[in-house]
Amino acid sequence: IKALTRVFDVSKPWLNRILERRGKALLTAVSNVDFQIEERTTYALVGESGSGKSTIGRMLVGLLDPSEGDVQVDGVNLATEADAAKVAKVRSHIQMIFQDPYASLNPRWRVRDIIAEPVASKGGETEGLAERLLEQVGLHPSDAGKFPHEFSGGQRQRICIARALASEPRLIVCDEPTSALDVSVQAQVLNLMSDLKEELGLTYLLITHDLTVVRHMADRIGVLYLGRLVEEADPQSLFDAPKHPYTQMLLDAAPRMDGFGREVPPPQGEIPDPIDPPSGCAFHPRCPIAEDICRQERPEMKALGKGRVACHLAR
Ligand code: SF4
Ligand code: MG
Repeated sequence: IKALTRVFDVSKPWLNRILERRGKALLTAVSNVDFQIEERTTYALVGESGSGKSTIGRMLVGLLDPSEGDVQVDGVNLATEADAAKVAKVRSHIQMIFQDPYASLNPRWRVRDIIAEPVASKGGETEGLAERLLEQVGLHPSDAGKFPHEFSGGQRQRICIARALASEPRLIVCDEPTSALDVSVQAQVLNLMSDLKEELGLTYLLITHDLTVVRHMADRIGVLYLGRLVEEADPQSLFDAPKHPYTQMLLDAAPRMDGFGREVPPPQGEIPDPIDPPSGCAFHPRCPIAEDICRQERPEMKALGKGRVACHLAR
């Protein structure tokens, strides 16, 4: 799966407020983000709020289209393919799980109908389907007759996972799947996701602001800052030797040494206004080791060690 994207996303209320204030301002939510997800692996996209990670997830499931670039799945470019049936077929194997499991469940529907809906809407066989899937996600088949409000947050997320599985997906986009849950429940849901991945040969795009969540889930991690990929690596390389100052900042708020033996102070400053991003490296106002070139030239992603990094000073 390849994503090379530049999209304009004005769907968020806070963005709309900025847009109104500024008249015709247009936001580039994601730019030149280029990554591939290998089949049966978990690719984690990590970044703060406003980094563009949800935008990328929404493009994969078709809730948004890129204004430029490709979103390729199994060789089909979802952004430009003219054959609607072909696109629909690929999309039917991509499902999404959202942050708030309650908001995404219709409160007036029984769990049986919620889970079977993706199949029923295509005229498929739904007899016993919800019961089977409920068992697969660690709930009881008899739960099929209940309503969403009768379940805890973790159980509701299990119901959302069961609904996603109903379409026999190959790729599941998981947008902050556990951040609305109690800490004690988060690990259970993540473990379930890991088990299902092994059993069913699933591929995940895991979207999160929380690096600790990805540590044991991800096979590959991409770090986003203001709509651009700044570092990509396998978890061990990323956690043991982060190359980008922003990744270092995310990993540890406490003072630490950077790759060249200099001490990197704790994170400073806020995320800049995405409408008017800083020149050169967009991270430079917050970067503790920025030099003149950082304010002038945008660093390109380049291979370094086992990963890629966009930083003028990374060695
Ligand atoms: Fe910091 Fe410069 Fe690297 Fe950007 S390019 S992260 S400002 S050192
Ligand atoms: Mg988000």
